[in-house]
Amino acid sequence: MNYASTRDRKQERLYSLPEAMMTALAPDGGLFVPVVIPQINNAPLGQCSSFVEMAFEVLHPYFEDSELESSLPEICMDAFSFPVDLKQISPKTTVLELFHGPTAAFKDFGARFLASAMDRLLELSGQRRTILVATSGDTGSAVASAFHGKKNIDVKVLFPKGRVSERQRIQLTCWDSNVSSYEVDGSFDDCQAMVKQAFMDPGLRGLASANSINLGRLLPQTTYYYFASFSYALQAGRMPTIIVPSGNLGNCTAAFMAQIAGAPIERIVLATNANRSVEDYLEKGGFEPRASIQTLANAMDVGSPSNMERLMYLYPDFKDFKSQIKAFSVSDEEIRATIKAVYDETGYVMCPHTATAECVRRRDLGDREAIVVSTASPAKFNHIVEPIIGRQLMVPSQLESLLKRPCKAIAIKADYHELF
Ligand SMILES: *Cc1c(COP(=O)(O)O)cnc(C)c1O
Repeated sequence: MNYASTRDRKQERLYSLPEAMMTALAPDGGLFVPVVIPQINNAPLGQCSSFVEMAFEVLHPYFEDSELESSLPEICMDAFSFPVDLKQISPKTTVLELFHGPTAAFKDFGARFLASAMDRLLELSGQRRTILVATSGDTGSAVASAFHGKKNIDVKVLFPKGRVSERQRIQLTCWDSNVSSYEVDGSFDDCQAMVKQAFMDPGLRGLASANSINLGRLLPQTTYYYFASFSYALQAGRMPTIIVPSGNLGNCTAAFMAQIAGAPIERIVLATNANRSVEDYLEKGGFEPRASIQTLANAMDVGSPSNMERLMYLYPDFKDFKSQIKAFSVSDEEIRATIKAVYDETGYVMCPHTATAECVRRRDLGDREAIVVSTASPAKFNHIVEPIIGRQLMVPSQLESLLKRPCKAIAIKADYHELF
């Protein structure tokens, strides 16, 4: 399998999987995409006895003829070391719980897979890399946790002082050995600017990126869409509609790739918070990035979603794009009301991101049956959820063990020279 840039429609320059994973962004500024999306053969999938086995089956074509082909089974075992749950919580709502990994959000799937794959590639070539990641919360902890203890990679996490929640701060600073945390006297934008400057500094070598545009994070996110749609179709006798809480659009791009590959998915619907750049595109055509707006579902506060470029690559014709992709925006008030309604009706507690998807199911899909993708544990957002439902949430065991670890952060000014 070869990979090409989204900006090279004729696919004149081809890249290997390791090249795509190690560089993240194509030299022409585009994002890496597979030259074809391999069609899956349903028969072997029906015989898989576990999620890991199914993940291997669907990812294998992407790894064919690469240096990583023979280690794919171990990478899958290493990365997907926690359960994926498909839970029916009411007659109309089945929740796909993706938050049982070490940092209690779906980003564990992509980050752990990339960490395992990258570490193996570096081992094979005898090299070392340093990963720089700027975070406003969720991504940094998933990346730190996933790369912690890897032999050939160091991680430097940058977060803005005083602008992350107490629980987020602990999850960003409870690491040691190859992971260091930097508390930057500045904003999230300052942190991001520092990372960009470091990457442009020709004097600095051996830097790598683990951000969400990396193909090594995208591919593993397709796996749970096969799992969910096959399980649902088998049980219900029909294909599901899947609603994906979306920000940077990586998670929903993976869902579309699974659908194009032949997974039994009727329709994919995007739920966004008040950041409505996708909705505006669908209404007007012509994509315009915007400044991001702060909302209760803060991991989706993205004004200029980077994976839009991949979606437009998959559906280059605007008419086609419009017929395949539906997106609906949800306000903070509706997020609160949905968390409350679901709790009152079923006893189930949703995080604010998940609630955007359930709101779309009720409000925009005529209360139709659907799979609602749950991207994070509500316990990560206890400060928002607890006052709405009027009770305290249990802390999941994996979060509890993180919250007990000793913390260490290095305070620095917003200047990237202080990182090296
Ligand atoms: C990152 C994140 C999202 C958004 O996913 P994208 O792939 O960026 O669209 C949604 N919910 C949670 C909890 C997240 O951490």
